[in-house]
Amino acid sequence: DHLISQIAAGEVVERPSAVVKELLENALDAGATNITVRLEEGGVKRIAIIDNGRGIPADQLPLAMQRHATSKISSLEELENVATLGFRGEALASISSVAVLSLTTRTADAPHAWQIENGKVTPASGAQGTTVDVQDLYYNTPARRKFLKSEQTEFGHCAEVVRRIALARPDVSFSLSHNGKIVDHWNISAIDKRSATILGEGFAAARLPIDESAGPLRLHGFIGLPTASKGRADSQYFYVNGRFVRDKLLTHAVRAAYQDVLHGDRYPSYVIALDLDPALVDVNVHPSKIEVRFRDSRAVHQFVFHAVNRALAQTSA
Ligand code: ADP
Ligand code: MG
Repeated sequence: DHLISQIAAGEVVERPSAVVKELLENALDAGATNITVRLEEGGVKRIAIIDNGRGIPADQLPLAMQRHATSKISSLEELENVATLGFRGEALASISSVAVLSLTTRTADAPHAWQIENGKVTPASGAQGTTVDVQDLYYNTPARRKFLKSEQTEFGHCAEVVRRIALARPDVSFSLSHNGKIVDHWNISAIDKRSATILGEGFAAARLPIDESAGPLRLHGFIGLPTASKGRADSQYFYVNGRFVRDKLLTHAVRAAYQDVLHGDRYPSYVIALDLDPALVDVNVHPSKIEVRFRDSRAVHQFVFHAVNRALAQTSA
């Protein structure tokens, strides 16, 4: 039902950057190794995401656009072990209820591509992979459109979403353009190079690798020394099982470790990944999945604190 779609869309796609996030996650779930993001007017006019992933078989195209019809999760047990990024089966349905969406896709064995627009499937041309083209976001929900900020602000949020995902996936190349101009381009590389490109040479010059494990927990990545930090609140990147999170508990553990060793109150830059048994963490707290809930949050806090603390202590010794 269209109204339900529009209401749900408010949660899933509250602004252009949320659309970008959902579409990028779909591209990664489809195994893409090369993703192009083209935005116009902060994403409001247009968001086009081109990937070289598996594509969608023609007979499954109408289904992919339906709410919950294609959820990648089929059981409660599976929900505890989500390996895919998208699993609610409502992104495409939600987006197409508040924008003009066309999807062009081709699988490896298809003789040509197919396009779906307005529920109509027609033959098209194109290489293997999927292009999702979203135009005129919120054209039919003017109240929501009024809440959007300036073009530059909305673009900034979109670019940040691309950076977050690009930092987690150095094995994928990304390109980002705005109003026809290429803003960022990252080739496939190792994580040390990708993080240097995204966080800047200052970070690259003064960072410590970190890699510690304890039982089901592993913490790895790079923590910047305060000299390398620009004090930007958006230079902190924390991932849990591959998803970017901004979580109070984790942020606190890292900051406390810095303060304990360096006695400063400067905001450090870091790119840290926490990997743990999916059964020990609930990532489904909120549609935007930016917060997580741990089964044993005390143990996680202690582990993160001590791992960062030890890595920093080596430098001040
Ligand atoms: P979910 O990701 O939760 O399954 P979505 O609405 O985001 O729901 O996507 C619906 C379905 O469409 C996906 O399950 C997937 O099968 C297919 N799909 C969407 N985007 C892509 C893509 N870029 N490449 C391949 N398949 C896709
Ligand atoms: Mg999805």
